[in-house]
Formats: sequence, C-alpha cells, structure tokens
Amino acid sequence: MHETALVSGIMKIAFEQLENHRLNRLVAIKLKVGEFSGAFPDALRFAFEAMVAETEHSGARLEIEEIPGRGLCRFCQAEFSYTPGMECPSCGGLAPKLVQGEEMLLESIEAE
Ligand SMILES: [Zn+2]
Repeated sequence: MHETALVSGIMKIAFEQLENHRLNRLVAIKLKVGEFSGAFPDALRFAFEAMVAETEHSGARLEIEEIPGRGLCRFCQAEFSYTPGMECPSCGGLAPKLVQGEEMLLESIEAE
C-alpha cells in the first residue's frame, strides 16, 4: 500500500527530529494532504496507527488537514474549486490548471 510507504517516510523524519532535539516522546505529527495528492487521509491514519503502535511512541497522533483542489483558468485567470475534467465556470475555458491540492506537506512535529 502506497500510504504505508508515505507514513514510513514521515515517521522516519519525525524520529530523526526527535533525536536531533533530544526529545523522547512523539506527541503528534501534522500533515497537509491535498485532495489530488494521491494519498487518502483515512488510509494514512490507518497506516500511522498500525505503525506507531509498534514503536515506543504508541499513542502519538496523526493530524491531517485536507487541502481542497483549486483550479486556475488559462484564459481568464479565474480561480475556482477544481474537479477533474471540468471547464472554467466563468468563461468555459478547457483544461484549467490545478494550482492547489496536489501537495502533501509535513506541517509540524510535536514532541516532548
Ligand atoms: Zn476562464
């Protein structure tokens, strides 16, 4: 599963940060996950819970902020909520550009 690899990478970064700052316990990881990032928040949470339970940081939380898709018209520069295959709602222009919603960012790590 794709999400398992993503979560494994995120946990690796978090544990390195803990070590660098001499912190002992992971409290929470905050992620921003775009609607079109290809990762599913429920699957990320499920993978995280399963994987963190195997570590000494059992009980740590994964907080996910979902970023909605935004489209930008190539012709009239209008910005709007994006769905694949749509046309620009103001001028009917084809193939608007996806300008937000493909990202997946590690927003912050909380530890003590
Ligand atoms: Zn337009």
